[in-house]
Amino acid sequence: MNAANFEKIYRDEDVNLELLTDKVVAVIGYGSQGRAQSMNMRESGIKVIVGAGDRHRHSSWDKAEADGFEVYSIEEAVQKADVVHILLQDPAQPSVYYESIHAHLRPGQTLSFAHGFAVLYGTIKPPKDVDVVLFVPNGPGPVTRQKYKDGSGIWGCVAVDQNISGQAQETALAIAKAVGSTRVGVVVMTFQNETEGDNYEEQVLYGGTIHLMRTMYNIMVKNGYPRSFAYAKAIRSIRSIIDDIDEVGIEPYLTSRASRTCEFAVRHSGPRVINEEEMEKIFEETENGIFARNWLQEFSLGMPTLHRMRRTCAESDMEQTGEIWREKFGK
Ligand code: NAP
Ligand code: MG
Repeated sequence: MNAANFEKIYRDEDVNLELLTDKVVAVIGYGSQGRAQSMNMRESGIKVIVGAGDRHRHSSWDKAEADGFEVYSIEEAVQKADVVHILLQDPAQPSVYYESIHAHLRPGQTLSFAHGFAVLYGTIKPPKDVDVVLFVPNGPGPVTRQKYKDGSGIWGCVAVDQNISGQAQETALAIAKAVGSTRVGVVVMTFQNETEGDNYEEQVLYGGTIHLMRTMYNIMVKNGYPRSFAYAKAIRSIRSIIDDIDEVGIEPYLTSRASRTCEFAVRHSGPRVINEEEMEKIFEETENGIFARNWLQEFSLGMPTLHRMRRTCAESDMEQTGEIWREKFGK
């Protein structure tokens, strides 16, 4: 493949931060992403204020104030802002949006997200006279923060759902630059691809890997292996391969860093573990909204399935072994 056919990758020199320098960015929610992105943007010279829920019920207010930010109620922060950057946890977004954000938006503002779920599935319907964008750094908040402090960043993506000003994409890219992502690279996506791609990754990569670990542990223990050995094989081993693969690529890892037996084992039996038909079905269910519907339904019912599964899993042999394992062998 020719690198020239690759999608455009935006870096610092492609993006104009000045679009934000005389603006106020209100970060709504001060959790994993909120804290990291607020701090990075402030250090990039952007005026950041924080909008937080009632301080008696939400810890965000005190946390943001302790970090030196001006903190306001969500309503007031929206009124003071040019860019309203919503970094609330996803299922909480619609109720907070309709209680405290929607009525305070004014024409010309930018409404920005770090995940497209609420907009794609219509649980938030922004007014027609604001720009609607998203910027996602592809990593958790604390890593986004640490990378920035180290002079680097986390690659990310931006997307535009409404472009009223004609500069929506430029604004999203400026946010990405202020958070440090264009130091590494940012690509332009759609709300649909960002959301469905993220939901697909969580189902097949996270879901598949975690259930692979569990199944492997259970089979080994059932067949008489010592629990500590099965646990190490099913969980700790992945650390040793993933960093190598990420650093050099799959084939160089297999042919030069892994043993020949390991290379053979991977090529011989690996494909049999994967159910491609199911992976395709899950892709379809993600694309036709079934996954989103199931999750929204589960959430609106108070998450009965999640609560029940949490109990079973927490009590499982593997989790109990894990607790002892970490105590004995370290984290
Ligand atoms: P989080 O750590 O759970 O933080 C959520 C924030 O929302 C907290 O500050 C919480 O405040 C606030 N909040 C929740 N309910 C509220 C309510 N009813 N009223 C007022 N404030 C409320 O969330 P996050 O992981 O940063 O996720 C934020 C966004 O970033 C999401 O769209 C997510 O998809 C996206 N994202 C996350 C990651 C990641 O790795 N975490 C990566 C990429 C994108 P209190 O704690 O004070 O209640
Ligand atoms: Mg996600």
